[in-house]
Amino acid sequence: MEIIKIGSDILRQKCESVNEITEAHSKLAGEMFKILDASRGVGLAGPQIGVPQRIFVIRLDGDSPRVFINPSLLETSEETALGEEGCLSIPGVWAELRRPKRVKVQAWNEKGRPFSIEAQGILARAILHEYDHLEGILFVDRLSELKRERLMAKYSKLKKNQ
Ligand SMILES: [Zn+2]
Repeated sequence: MEIIKIGSDILRQKCESVNEITEAHSKLAGEMFKILDASRGVGLAGPQIGVPQRIFVIRLDGDSPRVFINPSLLETSEETALGEEGCLSIPGVWAELRRPKRVKVQAWNEKGRPFSIEAQGILARAILHEYDHLEGILFVDRLSELKRERLMAKYSKLKKNQ
């Protein structure tokens, strides 16, 4: 399975809710973790592998793997934090981005069990980044126009030199 890069329409659509969580989602989540391992990423969302469904996975160093299906953001803090962000669909470039510092999210795991967590720090940032993917939003959309143009110019240059 290949990771879909920026420029593809599938990254720009609002993903469909999962109607029923089945064995297929367990399998899909497993595949997604494999891709994460291979690409040394932190998170991956369905549309990035051509599955326009509301599912994403996150694995941070020292944390257990987490699967989020049909997530809802219950609360995001007004307090924000600045942190560096990148995306497997825009490989090779990173930018500082301001996001809410804390987030409360409710979702289902790959076994169909509902859960909710309050996250902060890198986990909160990863959840917000992956959630954006389900809405067709990429992290570069949240940069100022100038920063986005610079970053995309850098990305185009990298791609050309590959
Ligand atoms: Zn991403």
